[in-house]
Amino acid sequence: MTATHVLVLNSGSSSLKYQLLDMSADAARKATGIVERIGEPAGPADHTEALRRVADELAAHGAGLDSPDLAAIAHRVVHGGTRFTDPTLITDEVVAEIEHLIPLAPLHNPANLTGIEVARRLRPDLPQVAVFDTAFHSTMPQAAARYAIDRTVADEYGIRRYGFHGTSHAYVSRRTARLLGKDPSEVNVIVLHLGNGASASAVRGGVCVDTSMGLTPLEGLVMGTRSGDLDPAVIFHLTRVAGLSPDQVDTLLNKRSGLLGLCGDNDMREIGRRMAEGDEAARLAFEVYVHRLRKYVGAYCAVLGRVDAVAFTAGVGENSAAVREAALDGLEPLGIEIDAVRNAVRGSAERLVSTDTSRVAVAVVPTDEEREIAQQAYSLVRP
Ligand code: AMP
Repeated sequence: MTATHVLVLNSGSSSLKYQLLDMSADAARKATGIVERIGEPAGPADHTEALRRVADELAAHGAGLDSPDLAAIAHRVVHGGTRFTDPTLITDEVVAEIEHLIPLAPLHNPANLTGIEVARRLRPDLPQVAVFDTAFHSTMPQAAARYAIDRTVADEYGIRRYGFHGTSHAYVSRRTARLLGKDPSEVNVIVLHLGNGASASAVRGGVCVDTSMGLTPLEGLVMGTRSGDLDPAVIFHLTRVAGLSPDQVDTLLNKRSGLLGLCGDNDMREIGRRMAEGDEAARLAFEVYVHRLRKYVGAYCAVLGRVDAVAFTAGVGENSAAVREAALDGLEPLGIEIDAVRNAVRGSAERLVSTDTSRVAVAVVPTDEEREIAQQAYSLVRP
């Protein structure tokens, strides 16, 4: 009997998300869940206990961690630097190299590593695969990846644009091509991943040529709590004039900015409700969010030249007709025409929401990062 199950683990600092997929049945989801509050009084003491809980929950589904059906454990790893551009079989050396990248992702990589260490201890015999959030963007040309700063400094400290949400951009750009009945190599797609974190990418013939996140996930679009693009001198000003420490600025820009900073709410649903009641701060937050989005769509039209589709995904992209409509409003001269009636229909299916005459297709494509991670991992270990 061939083992066909892949367990996908997404290990955060205080949570462990898991999904079990059966690759012999079109990556059907066998089990999914999340263990939260790791290290807090109400939760498991540490990641080892958290993974034991996951194992118990899986066993309740008849597919425990010791199941012979399990072909691999796949780990989402946020930062692969320039070293990791493909799914990678985890060895001691790979662990050391992910550790080496911690300065680039001080919050995420240590949590991802903890998940890896615990899973390797519990199932040392099983192939474990790391799938990196940065990998899909590694094809960006230098012109897009380089910051215009002193080259020696940039190279010494690894300062360049890496991009994130890569598995989502890869998956959604490919599904969008399929939705158009084309091969991914034939189409140019602008992917807008709008969740609590948000990023845009320009994908030419299946290959990423630009993306909005940079050295860290802070750059680019306005997000739930992150500022996205801003004049870097804002940071000097805040340290010199407001007396904030680097860590305080970090927290301000990553945790207390974006929609939350502008209006006090980071959930687009709540912002929609407040706007309907005439709330001015909520409207302003919406407008700043949408203006940035439209700018990136225009910029990526210029980067790609020919655009075949704009694809919306993640929590906001999949669910907010208002954001989709406002972001593309007035872009008819670029060949982008959204159909108000189609756009307003709610649903969870992949769908087109452009007019029949639109030169550029507008698509809503629910993302599925776990499925993409499982597929990438399975293709590496498949017997
Ligand atoms: P994600 O990070 O992809 O899970 O997206 C989470 C975000 O999606 C939430 O913070 C909300 O802002 C947004 N969201 C979820 N559902 C809806 C909805 N029905 N309408 C508008 N925004 C939504």
